[in-house]
Amino acid sequence: MTSNFDSEKNKNRGGRPLSSIWKDITRRSHVGSGKYQATCKYCNFFWSRGDVSKLEEHLANHCSEAPASVVRRYLSKVLE
Ligand SMILES: [Zn+2]
Repeated sequence: MTSNFDSEKNKNRGGRPLSSIWKDITRRSHVGSGKYQATCKYCNFFWSRGDVSKLEEHLANHCSEAPASVVRRYLSKVLE
């Protein structure tokens, strides 16, 4: 019964892996509880404790060097 519920939940999530952020952000080391040392590949912004939602927000709203196609991809993600 629970497995049935899980597959429904996965379907609703759209199946887009969170790890795709690491094509745009360089991950350095895991510093615990879903947080990473990371650097933006476009503007070299550095996080000592960034989580994925923060990195997505950077690419959507704050990165001045990211290509428009990248910004748009993350903008639509953040707005969801
Ligand atoms: Zn950036």
